[in-house]
Amino acid sequence: MIAMAGLSPSETKILVAKAFAFQAFEAHRYELLRGSYFDESQYLAEFSSSNNLNKAKLNDEPLFDYLNWFHSVLLSSLLSKVPQLSTELGRFGTTLEHFISEQNLGSELKRLLDKIVASVSLYVPRQAAPAISLDWSSESMLTTCVAGRTVPDGPNSRKITLIFDLSTLDPVSFHSIPWILSHEFWCHCLADLGSVTKVGCDPTAAYEEGWMDSVQDGLIRSQSGSLFNASSLVRIIDFWEAYIVKRRTKASANVLWGSEVAEHFLGLLIQKLPDLDPISLFRQISVDLNALVLDQDVKGQVVDKIGHLLQINALHSVGDGAPLFGDVRSDGVAVTMRQWLADVVRHASVNGKCDVPQLIKLLKINA
Ligand SMILES: [Zn+2]
Repeated sequence: MIAMAGLSPSETKILVAKAFAFQAFEAHRYELLRGSYFDESQYLAEFSSSNNLNKAKLNDEPLFDYLNWFHSVLLSSLLSKVPQLSTELGRFGTTLEHFISEQNLGSELKRLLDKIVASVSLYVPRQAAPAISLDWSSESMLTTCVAGRTVPDGPNSRKITLIFDLSTLDPVSFHSIPWILSHEFWCHCLADLGSVTKVGCDPTAAYEEGWMDSVQDGLIRSQSGSLFNASSLVRIIDFWEAYIVKRRTKASANVLWGSEVAEHFLGLLIQKLPDLDPISLFRQISVDLNALVLDQDVKGQVVDKIGHLLQINALHSVGDGAPLFGDVRSDGVAVTMRQWLADVVRHASVNGKCDVPQLIKLLKINA
């Protein structure tokens, strides 16, 4: 079991024990929840209770010994609470044991990231893609209990940190790690390629946080069949949906605007440029614009200009919530503007690939 850089030994123990318990629970959820003697939240509380959190802090035994201790204490605690499920708990215990002896959480997640990164050559020449490293950290957070952060650690390398709130870590956030890694990779690792002055991303940036998030969401969903086996896929996508809902509650209006404009822009390409392989064209334009070293302001202006040409209106604000977008004007002016935008994209495209600097010029944005 490799150490997880950035986490202390006791933090590593808590994280790995919970992660394996979540995975084993997922494998047996239907039989464990049978008869509703004990509900999901009660199982999850057991994975977080003194069986795990307190002892890890006090103890300096090796991780493997700790996990074996966790296994036996957890099983006997569950057996005392739901003795009628002893057969089912036995099977759960065997699966947990298997994870403890066979799996290495740190390298499993690194392998997953490598698979996501490998798909980049479809969109970015491999030599232009930065080197990516993975780091870990523990913090207290409010909205989600797993988050990502990307910082450049050189002009051609990026470091992704997965941040965990260990006391509240739940299956929704844990199983959303592939989606979180995909966001960090496509939105932030591939932004401003080659820049030596790039810092982290402004969390309200319409392009990098909003538009690109919509792009990566489509990419990870289309790759999910090759990242996971079919039996776990449906549940994994359910977890992502729940995670995205939580995440959107803290997103700024500007970020939601960026996502909305991206989705409508893809809709326009599908409607007006069906002969140009619109989904690939949309991804190519998005990834190329993200890679350009431009002020975030300029990328935000591209979003605003396209949103304006698509005639997307903010619908209304619900209470203190962010405005909802999605209403599109459909009068004569709007039809003309949408057609003009489609013509501009066609004009800037040669052999199915759009020249993004040329597109920016045609949109009359000063970069
Ligand atoms: Zn982000």
